[in-house]
Amino acid sequence: MNYRHGYHAGNFADVLKHTALCELLRLLTAKDKKLFVLDTHAGAGGYDLAGRLAQRTGEAEAGIARLASAPRTDMPPAVARYLAAVAAYDRKFGATDGKPRRYPGSPRLVRTALRPGDRFIACELHPEEVFLLKREFAGDRAVEVRQADGYKALKAVLPPIERRGLVLIDPPFEAADEYERLLRALRHAVRRFATGCYAVWYPIKDEAAAAFADELSALEPLTLEMRLGGIEPGRLAACGLSVINPPWRFEEAMREALPWIADRLGPGVSAAVRPPQAGRPAGKAAP
Ligand code: SAM
Repeated sequence: MNYRHGYHAGNFADVLKHTALCELLRLLTAKDKKLFVLDTHAGAGGYDLAGRLAQRTGEAEAGIARLASAPRTDMPPAVARYLAAVAAYDRKFGATDGKPRRYPGSPRLVRTALRPGDRFIACELHPEEVFLLKREFAGDRAVEVRQADGYKALKAVLPPIERRGLVLIDPPFEAADEYERLLRALRHAVRRFATGCYAVWYPIKDEAAAAFADELSALEPLTLEMRLGGIEPGRLAACGLSVINPPWRFEEAMREALPWIADRLGPGVSAAVRPPQAGRPAGKAAP
């Protein structure tokens, strides 16, 4: 396991995934019913954009830094809320000039949205990331950090007692069998907890990824995509987020937010929102 998310934190893929995550959390916590959240591949929880890893790639410059400095004219509410969450996290570390220095990972964004009584489990396997994740949430009883395989956790914790849940699956895709493992675990999870909302991030980079996206479409997700133009070979140029059972109004919010973000991230960047393919309408209400 070599992957460290610190190299990529705040890049265009995080911007897509975290804008969607914030909106999913907002919509799913709008109802006065308890919510369970599982982050199967949680990472470190927060990232130093001025640190060695982020500076090595500079990916955040073309992602969150560019978006945060864009003029706010006509900014869609989902983007404004995402940027507010990033800025609020950053302010905790003393930032005042609007240029993000610290970037919240998915567990931090989940934590911000939780209400008293909601439940959150964050799984991570890499020992250093687990150490950082535990430190990030030290003393916070609302977050259960598990040093555990996220796919096994899916089996162990679903269906949740709350009967309402959001599952984020965001693996590093460095293992050859990642696609296969993910699909197997996801199909099993959907069988056990059919009404859960599942958000699955994936890179769009080769034939294996295309075959994976094809297999995923059988689960009838709403699909979000973002593509960069003019990227040198070997760097991630496109990614997707498939959302199974998106809450009502999520698709509408993403149709408004993603093209706006793509325009601000620069020339050649494009975004797409594709409804479920097999005729089932998107925006099925969560129970
Ligand atoms: N979800 C995070 C976010 O949005 O801020 C980023 C997660 S990063 C893309 C993927 C993480 O999964 C890495 O930190 C890696 O160590 C971890 N990981 C790899 N295999 C895992 C597994 N089987 N179970 C849990 N975590 C795993």
